Amino acid sequence: DKRVVLITGCSSGIGLSLAVRLASDPDKTFKVYATMRNLSKKERLLESMKGLHRDTLDILQMDVTDRQSILDARDRIVEKRINILGMDPCQCVPIRIGKCDLSGLMCLSSLFTVCNAGVGLMGPLEVQSLNSMRHILEVNLLGTIQTIQAFLPKMKAQSQGRILVTGSTGGLHGLPFNEVYCASKFAIEGACESLAILLQHFNIHVSLIECGPVNTDFLVNLQKTELGDTSLQQVDTQTLRLYEKYLQHCRSVFQNAAQDTEDIVKVFLDAIQSPSPAFRYFTSTTGAPVTQLKVTEPDESYISAMSKIIFSTEEQ
Ligand code: NAD
Repeated sequence: DKRVVLITGCSSGIGLSLAVRLASDPDKTFKVYATMRNLSKKERLLESMKGLHRDTLDILQMDVTDRQSILDARDRIVEKRINILGMDPCQCVPIRIGKCDLSGLMCLSSLFTVCNAGVGLMGPLEVQSLNSMRHILEVNLLGTIQTIQAFLPKMKAQSQGRILVTGSTGGLHGLPFNEVYCASKFAIEGACESLAILLQHFNIHVSLIECGPVNTDFLVNLQKTELGDTSLQQVDTQTLRLYEKYLQHCRSVFQNAAQDTEDIVKVFLDAIQSPSPAFRYFTSTTGAPVTQLKVTEPDESYISAMSKIIFSTEEQ
């Protein structure tokens, strides 16, 4: 049974690595639709596929903030899924042949939707413009939800489907100077938890792959307030001092503890290959104790623990 996997945000990072791994699977189990907002960025993905078979990979344009582009990408897959099974869409008639339901122009090869596209926003909250905050929520939260919405009716109709979402430990516990990013990732947790409860009844599995720091272009692509930025002139010195410390902490965490995309891809594969996938997967255990504090110690333990970790030499 061919597994059809659509992935968002494949021009770099986790999305690109996952697309390459699945498309180059030795058993050719997967047909991968690697989507990206800007097709002029597809060279990196094609370069990574060099020497590997290419018939398992299609690259499609998809901007998760643009509903029409999501629907267009989805519809391209609907047509092609028929062809994967060697059938001519024109000959589709409302009958069921084995596992193949031709009535809805969809065949029951398993469909996986991986909502991975995301961007960060870093800096003191008081300097963030409404537009930049909106953009983060539009990509991370509404982009994920719109992508799921587009595939949900067919998945429900088939009583089959998998939704995988690249989550973040920043969606499980707060991080200073990342308020809006964390808010977007927290919101995804809520949306996915809510959906998972319902979709159990449709044999559709939702899984969050919770990542800590990963070596990708994330830090380059995020909207970051640089220390020399003029907008910081309006910010008080105490916040600026803490921001400087946070940036140092962030650099050192990414240098010393960031995982490679291959590690993340392994966890995605676990989830994809499991007959009954978990709701949450953690790519690393390093953040777990601090995340647990939040639940087990509802006083301020988590808040002060995180503050110590990030601003260690500061007065608490
Ligand atoms: P990345 O910047 O390399 O990849 C993000 C991808 O999303 C890029 O290819 C970008 O073009 C794409 N994207 C942005 N806006 C889009 C839009 N409107 N439509 C379609 N695609 C869009 O970084 P990454 O680390 O690979 O990020 C992937 C996911 O992992 C994100 O959701 C991110 O929040 C999450 N994550 C990353 C880290 C990390 O440390 N790198 C940690 C936790 C979670």
